[in-house]
Amino acid sequence: MKTISRRALLKFSSGSLLLGLSPFLRANTAAAADVTAVRIWPANAYTRLTLESDLPIEYKYFALTNPGRLVLDLQGIGINTVLQSLPQKVLPFDPYIGSVRIGQFNENTVRVVMDLKASVNPQVFALKPVADFKNRLVIDLYPSATQQEEADPLMALLQDYNRGKINSDGTSKITDKTTVAQAPTPPVRPAPPEIPEDTPVFISPKNFYRKPIIVLDPGHGGEDPGAIGPSGLREKDVVLAIARETKKRLDELGYKTYLTRNEDVFIPLGVRVAKARKLKADVFISIHADAFTNPAARGTGVYAISQKGATNAAAKYLAQTQNNADLIGGVSYSADKHVNNTLFDLTQTATVNDSLKLGKGVLNALGKINKLHNNTVNQANFAVLKAPDIPSILVETAFISNPTEEKLLGSTQFRQQTALSIVSGVKTYLATAVLARS
Ligand SMILES: [Zn+2]
Repeated sequence: MKTISRRALLKFSSGSLLLGLSPFLRANTAAAADVTAVRIWPANAYTRLTLESDLPIEYKYFALTNPGRLVLDLQGIGINTVLQSLPQKVLPFDPYIGSVRIGQFNENTVRVVMDLKASVNPQVFALKPVADFKNRLVIDLYPSATQQEEADPLMALLQDYNRGKINSDGTSKITDKTTVAQAPTPPVRPAPPEIPEDTPVFISPKNFYRKPIIVLDPGHGGEDPGAIGPSGLREKDVVLAIARETKKRLDELGYKTYLTRNEDVFIPLGVRVAKARKLKADVFISIHADAFTNPAARGTGVYAISQKGATNAAAKYLAQTQNNADLIGGVSYSADKHVNNTLFDLTQTATVNDSLKLGKGVLNALGKINKLHNNTVNQANFAVLKAPDIPSILVETAFISNPTEEKLLGSTQFRQQTALSIVSGVKTYLATAVLARS
Protein backbone atom coordinates (compact mmCIF):
# COMPACT_ATOMS: atom_id res chain seq x y z
CA MET A 1 0.00 0.00 0.00
CA LYS A 2 2.71 2.34 1.02
CA THR A 3 4.83 1.35 -2.00
CA ILE A 4 1.92 1.78 -4.37
CA SER A 5 1.10 5.23 -3.12
CA ARG A 6 4.77 6.19 -3.46
CA ARG A 7 4.79 4.91 -7.02
CA ALA A 8 1.60 6.77 -7.78
CA LEU A 9 3.13 9.90 -6.35
CA LEU A 10 6.30 9.46 -8.39
CA LYS A 11 4.27 8.91 -11.52
CA PHE A 12 2.21 11.98 -10.82
CA SER A 13 5.21 14.21 -10.18
CA SER A 14 7.08 13.02 -13.24
CA GLY A 15 3.95 13.71 -15.25
CA SER A 16 3.58 17.22 -13.95
CA LEU A 17 7.32 17.73 -14.43
CA LEU A 18 6.95 16.80 -18.11
CA LEU A 19 4.10 19.23 -18.50
CA GLY A 20 6.26 21.96 -17.10
CA LEU A 21 9.11 21.32 -19.57
CA SER A 22 9.60 23.17 -22.80
CA PRO A 23 8.28 21.50 -25.97
CA PHE A 24 11.90 21.21 -27.20
CA LEU A 25 12.97 18.99 -24.30
CA ARG A 26 9.82 16.95 -24.49
CA ALA A 27 10.42 16.31 -28.16
CA ASN A 28 13.91 15.14 -27.31
CA THR A 29 12.81 12.70 -24.62
CA ALA A 30 9.85 11.39 -26.60
CA ALA A 31 11.60 11.46 -30.02
CA ALA A 32 9.00 9.44 -31.85
CA ALA A 33 9.48 9.93 -35.57
CA ASP A 34 6.65 9.51 -38.05
CA VAL A 35 7.40 7.98 -41.42
CA THR A 36 5.81 10.39 -43.90
CA ALA A 37 6.78 8.80 -47.22
CA VAL A 38 8.40 5.62 -48.55
CA ARG A 39 9.88 5.15 -52.00
CA ILE A 40 11.77 2.46 -53.88
CA TRP A 41 13.81 3.30 -57.00
CA PRO A 42 14.79 0.05 -58.70
CA ALA A 43 17.60 0.28 -61.29
CA ASN A 44 20.37 -1.90 -62.65
CA ALA A 45 22.99 0.51 -61.33
CA TYR A 46 21.57 0.22 -57.80
CA THR A 47 18.21 0.10 -56.06
CA ARG A 48 17.43 2.84 -53.58
CA LEU A 49 14.91 2.56 -50.76
CA THR A 50 14.03 5.85 -49.05
CA LEU A 51 12.21 6.33 -45.75
CA GLU A 52 11.22 9.95 -45.21
CA SER A 53 10.26 11.12 -41.71
CA ASP A 54 9.52 14.28 -39.73
CA LEU A 55 12.39 13.53 -37.29
CA PRO A 56 15.63 11.61 -37.88
CA ILE A 57 15.25 7.85 -37.38
CA GLU A 58 17.78 5.86 -35.37
CA TYR A 59 18.79 2.75 -37.26
CA LYS A 60 20.97 -0.34 -37.35
CA TYR A 61 21.36 -2.81 -40.17
CA PHE A 62 22.92 -6.18 -40.88
CA ALA A 63 22.91 -8.82 -43.59
CA LEU A 64 21.80 -12.44 -43.40
CA THR A 65 22.58 -15.20 -45.89
CA ASN A 66 20.77 -18.34 -47.13
CA PRO A 67 18.53 -16.80 -48.25
CA GLY A 68 20.07 -13.35 -48.63
CA ARG A 69 18.37 -10.65 -46.59
CA LEU A 70 19.12 -7.15 -45.39
CA VAL A 71 17.67 -6.37 -41.97
CA LEU A 72 17.02 -2.81 -40.91
CA ASP A 73 16.11 -2.10 -37.28
CA LEU A 74 14.44 1.26 -36.69
CA GLN A 75 14.21 2.77 -33.21
CA GLY A 76 11.49 5.01 -31.80
CA ILE A 77 9.01 4.82 -34.65
CA GLY A 78 5.61 3.21 -34.96
CA ILE A 79 4.23 1.15 -37.82
CA ASN A 80 1.83 3.54 -39.55
CA THR A 81 -0.09 3.16 -42.82
CA VAL A 82 2.70 4.88 -44.77
CA LEU A 83 5.31 2.38 -43.60
CA GLN A 84 2.83 -0.45 -44.13
CA SER A 85 2.62 0.52 -47.82
CA LEU A 86 6.34 -0.23 -48.34
CA PRO A 87 5.96 -3.94 -49.34
CA GLN A 88 3.61 -2.91 -52.19
CA LYS A 89 6.27 -0.56 -53.55
CA VAL A 90 8.54 -3.43 -54.56
CA LEU A 91 8.34 -3.83 -58.34
CA PRO A 92 8.68 -7.23 -60.06
CA PHE A 93 11.60 -6.04 -62.22
CA ASP A 94 13.63 -4.78 -59.25
CA PRO A 95 17.05 -6.40 -59.80
CA TYR A 96 17.91 -6.55 -56.09
CA ILE A 97 14.81 -6.57 -53.85
CA GLY A 98 12.39 -9.49 -54.08
CA SER A 99 10.09 -8.47 -51.25
CA VAL A 100 9.96 -6.40 -48.04
CA ARG A 101 8.47 -7.42 -44.70
CA ILE A 102 7.77 -5.17 -41.72
CA GLY A 103 7.14 -6.16 -38.12
CA GLN A 104 7.31 -4.92 -34.53
CA PHE A 105 10.49 -6.68 -33.35
CA ASN A 106 10.26 -5.50 -29.75
CA GLU A 107 8.77 -2.60 -27.81
CA ASN A 108 11.18 -0.05 -29.26
CA THR A 109 12.18 -1.61 -32.56
CA VAL A 110 10.45 -1.88 -35.89
CA ARG A 111 12.20 -4.41 -38.13
CA VAL A 112 12.25 -4.09 -41.94
CA VAL A 113 13.49 -7.19 -43.77
CA MET A 114 14.45 -6.96 -47.43
CA ASP A 115 14.51 -10.34 -49.20
CA LEU A 116 17.26 -10.08 -51.78
CA LYS A 117 17.38 -11.44 -55.33
CA ALA A 118 21.14 -11.01 -55.71
CA SER A 119 24.17 -10.45 -53.51
CA VAL A 120 24.51 -6.76 -52.75
CA ASN A 121 26.78 -4.19 -51.18
CA PRO A 122 24.48 -2.06 -49.04
CA GLN A 123 25.11 1.60 -48.22
CA VAL A 124 22.84 3.02 -45.54
CA PHE A 125 22.93 6.69 -44.61
CA ALA A 126 20.79 9.53 -43.26
CA LEU A 127 20.17 12.84 -45.04
CA LYS A 128 19.08 16.07 -43.40
CA PRO A 129 16.03 17.93 -44.74
CA VAL A 130 16.64 19.71 -48.06
CA ALA A 131 14.33 21.36 -50.61
CA ASP A 132 10.94 19.64 -50.32
CA PHE A 133 12.38 16.61 -48.56
CA LYS A 134 12.19 15.97 -44.81
CA ASN A 135 14.67 13.71 -42.99
CA ARG A 136 15.61 10.75 -45.16
CA LEU A 137 17.03 7.36 -44.34
CA VAL A 138 18.50 5.97 -47.55
CA ILE A 139 19.31 2.33 -48.26
CA ASP A 140 21.28 1.89 -51.50
CA LEU A 141 21.76 -1.69 -52.67
CA TYR A 142 24.68 -1.91 -55.10
CA PRO A 143 25.50 -5.10 -57.00
CA SER A 144 28.43 -7.07 -55.58
CA ALA A 145 31.80 -6.56 -57.25
CA THR A 146 31.61 -9.57 -59.59
CA GLN A 147 28.13 -8.73 -60.82
CA GLN A 148 29.21 -5.16 -61.36
CA GLU A 149 32.09 -6.18 -63.65
CA GLU A 150 29.63 -8.15 -65.77
CA ALA A 151 26.98 -5.44 -65.89
CA ASP A 152 28.69 -2.06 -66.30
CA PRO A 153 32.25 -1.64 -65.05
CA LEU A 154 31.73 2.13 -65.01
CA MET A 155 29.18 1.77 -62.25
CA ALA A 156 32.03 0.89 -59.90
CA LEU A 157 32.69 4.64 -60.05
CA LEU A 158 29.48 5.16 -58.10
CA GLN A 159 30.73 3.17 -55.15
CA ASP A 160 34.17 4.77 -55.37
CA TYR A 161 32.42 8.14 -55.18
CA ASN A 162 30.38 7.17 -52.15
CA ARG A 163 33.53 5.95 -50.45
CA GLY A 164 35.15 9.32 -51.08
CA LYS A 165 37.62 8.13 -53.70
CA ILE A 166 36.45 10.53 -56.41
CA ASN A 167 36.69 14.32 -56.32
CA SER A 168 33.75 16.53 -57.23
CA ASP A 169 35.40 17.33 -60.59
CA GLY A 170 35.40 13.67 -61.53
CA THR A 171 39.12 13.12 -60.92
CA SER A 172 40.15 10.24 -58.71
CA LYS A 173 41.74 11.01 -55.36
CA ILE A 174 43.95 7.95 -55.29
CA THR A 175 44.67 6.25 -58.58
CA ASP A 176 44.02 8.91 -61.17
CA LYS A 177 47.61 9.82 -62.01
CA THR A 178 48.70 6.23 -62.52
CA THR A 179 45.53 5.46 -64.46
CA VAL A 180 46.24 8.31 -66.84
CA ALA A 181 49.91 7.40 -67.18
CA GLN A 182 49.22 3.75 -67.89
CA ALA A 183 46.28 4.29 -70.22
CA PRO A 184 46.92 2.58 -73.55
CA THR A 185 47.37 5.02 -76.42
CA PRO A 186 44.95 4.27 -79.26
CA PRO A 187 46.83 2.93 -82.30
CA VAL A 188 47.63 5.53 -84.94
CA ARG A 189 46.04 4.57 -88.23
CA PRO A 190 46.53 6.25 -91.62
CA ALA A 191 42.86 5.97 -92.64
CA PRO A 192 39.55 5.43 -90.88
CA PRO A 193 38.01 2.44 -92.67
CA GLU A 194 35.14 2.01 -90.22
CA ILE A 195 33.95 5.62 -90.39
CA PRO A 196 31.31 6.48 -93.00
CA GLU A 197 32.42 9.07 -95.55
CA ASP A 198 30.27 11.91 -94.26
CA THR A 199 31.56 11.62 -90.70
CA PRO A 200 33.87 14.44 -89.68
CA VAL A 201 37.16 13.06 -88.45
CA PHE A 202 38.30 14.40 -85.14
CA ILE A 203 41.99 15.07 -84.82
CA SER A 204 43.66 15.86 -81.56
CA PRO A 205 47.40 15.98 -80.82
CA LYS A 206 47.21 12.49 -79.33
CA ASN A 207 44.76 10.67 -81.53
CA PHE A 208 44.46 10.62 -85.29
CA TYR A 209 41.55 9.23 -87.24
CA ARG A 210 39.34 7.68 -84.65
CA LYS A 211 35.68 7.82 -83.87
CA PRO A 212 34.81 10.85 -81.73
CA ILE A 213 33.61 9.89 -78.26
CA ILE A 214 30.52 11.75 -77.09
CA VAL A 215 29.08 11.50 -73.57
CA LEU A 216 25.49 12.65 -73.14
CA ASP A 217 24.33 13.40 -69.62
CA PRO A 218 20.57 13.36 -69.01
CA GLY A 219 20.16 15.40 -65.81
CA HIS A 220 18.62 14.22 -62.51
CA GLY A 221 16.94 10.79 -62.16
CA GLY A 222 15.61 8.50 -59.44
CA GLU A 223 15.01 10.34 -56.16
CA ASP A 224 15.73 13.63 -57.93
CA PRO A 225 12.94 14.37 -60.47
CA GLY A 226 14.44 17.70 -61.54
CA ALA A 227 11.85 20.36 -62.35
CA ILE A 228 8.19 19.37 -62.69
CA GLY A 229 5.86 21.04 -65.20
CA PRO A 230 2.40 22.46 -64.37
CA SER A 231 0.72 19.33 -65.77
CA GLY A 232 3.16 16.96 -64.07
CA LEU A 233 5.79 16.32 -66.76
CA ARG A 234 9.10 15.47 -65.07
CA GLU A 235 12.42 16.88 -66.26
CA LYS A 236 14.23 13.59 -65.56
CA ASP A 237 11.98 11.72 -68.03
CA VAL A 238 12.11 14.38 -70.75
CA VAL A 239 15.89 14.70 -70.74
CA LEU A 240 16.42 10.92 -70.78
CA ALA A 241 14.17 10.65 -73.86
CA ILE A 242 16.07 13.48 -75.60
CA ALA A 243 19.45 11.96 -74.69
CA ARG A 244 18.43 8.54 -76.05
CA GLU A 245 17.22 10.17 -79.27
CA THR A 246 20.48 12.14 -79.58
CA LYS A 247 22.55 9.00 -78.98
CA LYS A 248 20.65 7.18 -81.74
CA ARG A 249 21.41 9.96 -84.23
CA LEU A 250 25.07 10.28 -83.21
CA ASP A 251 25.57 6.50 -83.41
CA GLU A 252 24.11 6.58 -86.93
CA LEU A 253 26.83 9.07 -87.85
CA GLY A 254 29.54 6.71 -86.61
CA TYR A 255 30.35 8.41 -83.33
CA LYS A 256 30.85 6.44 -80.13
CA THR A 257 28.13 7.73 -77.86
CA TYR A 258 27.53 6.96 -74.19
CA LEU A 259 24.93 8.05 -71.65
CA THR A 260 25.80 8.81 -68.02
CA ARG A 261 22.48 7.16 -67.13
CA ASN A 262 20.13 5.12 -69.29
CA GLU A 263 17.49 4.43 -66.64
CA ASP A 264 15.59 6.25 -63.93
CA VAL A 265 18.41 6.33 -61.39
CA PHE A 266 20.14 9.06 -59.42
CA ILE A 267 23.81 9.50 -60.36
CA PRO A 268 25.86 12.09 -58.39
CA LEU A 269 27.35 14.94 -60.43
CA GLY A 270 30.95 13.87 -59.74
CA VAL A 271 30.25 10.35 -61.01
CA ARG A 272 28.80 11.71 -64.26
CA VAL A 273 32.01 13.65 -64.88
CA ALA A 274 34.16 10.68 -63.78
CA LYS A 275 32.39 8.46 -66.32
CA ALA A 276 33.13 10.94 -69.11
CA ARG A 277 36.79 11.10 -68.08
CA LYS A 278 37.09 7.32 -67.89
CA LEU A 279 35.66 7.06 -71.41
CA LYS A 280 38.14 9.75 -72.56
CA ALA A 281 35.27 11.74 -74.02
CA ASP A 282 35.92 14.40 -76.66
CA VAL A 283 32.62 16.11 -75.89
CA PHE A 284 30.34 16.15 -72.81
CA ILE A 285 26.78 17.44 -73.08
CA SER A 286 24.48 17.68 -70.07
CA ILE A 287 20.79 17.89 -71.00
CA HIS A 288 18.22 19.67 -68.81
CA ALA A 289 14.90 21.51 -68.87
CA ASP A 290 14.70 24.90 -67.21
CA ALA A 291 12.23 26.08 -64.57
CA PHE A 292 11.37 29.40 -63.00
CA THR A 293 8.81 30.74 -60.54
CA ASN A 294 7.31 32.96 -63.26
CA PRO A 295 5.47 30.63 -65.69
CA ALA A 296 5.95 33.16 -68.50
CA ALA A 297 9.72 32.50 -68.58
CA ARG A 298 10.59 30.58 -71.74
CA GLY A 299 13.31 29.82 -74.24
CA THR A 300 16.35 27.66 -74.84
CA GLY A 301 19.79 28.26 -73.35
CA VAL A 302 23.29 26.82 -73.55
CA TYR A 303 25.85 27.08 -70.75
CA ALA A 304 29.57 26.49 -70.32
CA ILE A 305 31.80 26.53 -67.25
CA SER A 306 33.34 29.75 -66.05
CA GLN A 307 36.46 30.14 -63.97
CA LYS A 308 35.66 33.72 -62.99
CA GLY A 309 32.03 33.32 -62.03
CA ALA A 310 28.68 33.61 -63.71
CA THR A 311 28.22 35.89 -66.72
CA ASN A 312 24.83 37.00 -65.41
CA ALA A 313 22.53 36.60 -62.44
CA ALA A 314 20.26 34.10 -64.19
CA ALA A 315 23.21 31.85 -65.03
CA LYS A 316 24.41 32.06 -61.43
CA TYR A 317 20.96 31.16 -60.11
CA LEU A 318 20.73 28.25 -62.52
CA ALA A 319 24.15 26.88 -61.58
CA GLN A 320 23.21 27.01 -57.90
CA THR A 321 19.96 25.13 -58.46
CA GLN A 322 21.62 22.52 -60.70
CA ASN A 323 24.49 22.03 -58.26
CA ASN A 324 21.91 21.23 -55.58
CA ALA A 325 21.12 17.98 -57.41
CA ASP A 326 23.49 16.01 -55.17
CA LEU A 327 21.72 17.27 -52.04
CA ILE A 328 18.31 16.44 -53.50
CA GLY A 329 19.31 13.08 -54.97
CA GLY A 330 21.29 12.30 -51.83
CA VAL A 331 24.89 11.11 -51.65
CA SER A 332 26.28 9.36 -48.62
CA TYR A 333 29.71 10.89 -48.87
CA SER A 334 29.95 14.59 -49.59
CA ALA A 335 32.91 14.59 -51.94
CA ASP A 336 35.80 16.96 -51.44
CA LYS A 337 34.64 20.42 -52.41
CA HIS A 338 38.18 21.60 -53.07
CA VAL A 339 38.77 20.86 -56.70
CA ASN A 340 42.32 19.96 -57.70
CA ASN A 341 43.10 23.53 -58.64
CA THR A 342 46.49 22.96 -60.25
CA LEU A 343 45.12 20.53 -62.78
CA PHE A 344 42.10 22.74 -63.24
CA ASP A 345 44.10 25.86 -64.07
CA LEU A 346 46.50 24.13 -66.44
CA THR A 347 43.92 22.69 -68.78
CA GLN A 348 40.79 24.64 -68.11
CA THR A 349 41.47 27.74 -70.23
CA ALA A 350 41.81 25.72 -73.43
CA THR A 351 38.80 23.62 -72.48
CA VAL A 352 36.64 26.68 -71.77
CA ASN A 353 37.40 28.05 -75.24
CA ASP A 354 36.50 24.70 -76.82
CA SER A 355 33.36 24.49 -74.68
CA LEU A 356 32.27 27.93 -75.88
CA LYS A 357 32.86 26.88 -79.49
CA LEU A 358 30.86 23.68 -78.96
CA GLY A 359 28.13 25.66 -77.18
CA LYS A 360 27.88 28.18 -80.01
CA GLY A 361 27.33 25.45 -82.60
CA VAL A 362 24.61 23.81 -80.49
CA LEU A 363 22.99 27.16 -79.61
CA ASN A 364 22.82 28.24 -83.27
CA ALA A 365 21.12 24.98 -84.22
CA LEU A 366 18.68 25.14 -81.28
CA GLY A 367 17.85 28.76 -82.20
CA LYS A 368 16.17 27.43 -85.37
CA ILE A 369 13.61 25.40 -83.42
CA ASN A 370 12.88 27.57 -80.37
CA LYS A 371 13.30 31.10 -79.05
CA LEU A 372 16.68 31.61 -77.34
CA HIS A 373 16.66 33.48 -74.05
CA ASN A 374 20.18 34.62 -74.78
CA ASN A 375 22.04 34.79 -78.08
CA THR A 376 25.36 33.82 -76.53
CA VAL A 377 26.60 30.88 -74.50
CA ASN A 378 26.27 31.80 -70.82
CA GLN A 379 28.93 30.87 -68.31
CA ALA A 380 28.61 29.81 -64.68
CA ASN A 381 30.14 27.36 -62.21
CA PHE A 382 28.24 24.17 -62.93
CA ALA A 383 29.58 21.18 -61.02
CA VAL A 384 28.72 18.85 -63.87
CA LEU A 385 30.85 20.86 -66.33
CA LYS A 386 34.01 20.64 -64.25
CA ALA A 387 35.92 17.98 -66.17
CA PRO A 388 39.22 19.85 -66.54
CA ASP A 389 40.03 18.30 -69.91
CA ILE A 390 36.75 17.73 -71.75
CA PRO A 391 34.87 20.43 -73.68
CA SER A 392 31.54 20.43 -71.83
CA ILE A 393 28.24 22.24 -72.16
CA LEU A 394 24.87 22.20 -70.44
CA VAL A 395 21.77 22.54 -72.63
CA GLU A 396 18.56 23.91 -71.13
CA THR A 397 16.20 22.62 -73.81
CA ALA A 398 13.13 24.70 -72.80
CA PHE A 399 11.21 25.84 -69.71
CA ILE A 400 9.21 22.95 -68.30
CA SER A 401 7.56 25.49 -65.94
CA ASN A 402 6.04 27.29 -68.96
CA PRO A 403 2.75 25.57 -69.99
CA THR A 404 3.41 26.04 -73.73
CA GLU A 405 7.00 24.81 -73.53
CA GLU A 406 5.98 21.91 -71.27
CA LYS A 407 3.74 20.74 -74.14
CA LEU A 408 6.71 21.12 -76.50
CA LEU A 409 8.94 19.07 -74.21
CA GLY A 410 6.28 16.38 -74.07
CA SER A 411 6.08 16.07 -77.86
CA THR A 412 8.07 13.53 -79.87
CA GLN A 413 8.62 16.10 -82.61
CA PHE A 414 10.32 18.66 -80.37
CA ARG A 415 12.45 15.95 -78.73
CA GLN A 416 13.62 14.81 -82.17
CA GLN A 417 14.28 18.38 -83.30
CA THR A 418 16.28 19.04 -80.14
CA ALA A 419 18.30 15.86 -80.67
CA LEU A 420 19.02 16.81 -84.29
CA SER A 421 20.08 20.32 -83.21
CA ILE A 422 22.53 18.93 -80.65
CA VAL A 423 23.90 16.54 -83.31
CA SER A 424 24.27 19.41 -85.77
CA GLY A 425 26.13 21.51 -83.18
CA VAL A 426 28.47 18.63 -82.33
CA LYS A 427 29.23 18.09 -86.04
CA THR A 428 30.00 21.78 -86.50
CA TYR A 429 32.26 21.79 -83.46
CA LEU A 430 34.18 18.66 -84.49
CA ALA A 431 34.67 20.05 -87.98
CA THR A 432 36.22 23.23 -86.59
CA ALA A 433 38.20 21.17 -84.08
CA VAL A 434 39.88 19.49 -87.05
CA LEU A 435 40.80 22.89 -88.50
CA ALA A 436 42.01 24.23 -85.19
CA ARG A 437 44.16 21.25 -84.25
CA SER A 438 45.50 19.90 -87.52
ZN1 LIG B 1 17.98 20.22 -64.52
